[in-house]
Amino acid sequence: AKEAGRNRILYFNYEMKEAFEKQLMLEQGLRDAIKFNHFTLVFQPQYNLKTARTESLEALLRWHHPEWGMISPAEFIPVAEKSGNILVIGDWVLETAIREIKEIHHQYPYVTSVAINVSALQLREMDFIHRLKTLLKKYQVHPSLIEIEITESLFIDGGEELLQTLAKIQKMGVSIALDDFGTGYSSLNYLRILPINRVKIDQSFVQQMENDTRVQAIVKSVIDLSHNLGFIIVAEGVETKKQLNLLSSMETDVIQGFYYSKPLNKGQLQKFLDNDVTS
Ligand code: C2E
Ligand code: CA
Ligand code: CA
Ligand code: CA
Repeated sequence: AKEAGRNRILYFNYEMKEAFEKQLMLEQGLRDAIKFNHFTLVFQPQYNLKTARTESLEALLRWHHPEWGMISPAEFIPVAEKSGNILVIGDWVLETAIREIKEIHHQYPYVTSVAINVSALQLREMDFIHRLKTLLKKYQVHPSLIEIEITESLFIDGGEELLQTLAKIQKMGVSIALDDFGTGYSSLNYLRILPINRVKIDQSFVQQMENDTRVQAIVKSVIDLSHNLGFIIVAEGVETKKQLNLLSSMETDVIQGFYYSKPLNKGQLQKFLDNDVTS
């Protein structure tokens, strides 16, 4: 038993060391990525089923490392949050998305908003509102062209101040979307207290609904509830025609997912919108 215990400890330490080294590597990599500007934004089209148009986009961050290749934001965003680098990176995302939506909206006037993911630290530690106002003024962008995506995890350690920040942002005319809805601990309570315009049903629900009538009932209820509260419903991660049909029959407002389009770089997006006969 002693032997097994010692082995377990060794194994545990080994894993810790691996995770620690990986974290260090990513952290150093992120600092270089900031310095040499190895980030790009891609845009995933969101299709409004009610108006039959691509009215909005979600901006998603990409990091192309010269040796390691493409690194997923799911991997590096948590590291950037832990090390504080998310502040600089998040600010770059904010400025780039604002600059790009101006151009895109100018060329395709029916595209009327870009959704930007912001992290808790960004909303808490920076003078976020001031920065947002400064950038909107700098690029002469109307606040209604911007949507801020937040998640329930933002409120894990309390959030009275955060609530006020969000309310102010919404009052400016920027819309707010609650991302990954249904994956948190007290989702219903957030629908009650948060100043939001849109609810994004998490893709895990969308992907499970095809073969699971219970999930279908949950999704239908979330859609009806959100509508009763005056929120627009976005379904994320739509990959199949069947998912689309189900969501459409449940009165989903907006769909986003590979079925409609993958996230696209600027050139691909222009091509997509040029060929988009529905728009
Ligand atoms: P998210 O905000 O929930 O973004 C949606 C993710 O689902 C994106 O992954 C997108 O590429 C992917 N996706 C879209 N349609 C489909 C589909 O039909 N099927 C499947 N399987 N996936 C789909 P991505 O771009 O890898 O981003 C992962 C996460 O990283 C995001 O999840 C978000 O939490 C975070 N992230 C991305 N960009 C930023 C950013 O600029 N700032 C911050 N703070 N976080 C970001
Ligand atoms: Ca998002
Ligand atoms: Ca808008
Ligand atoms: Ca999401």
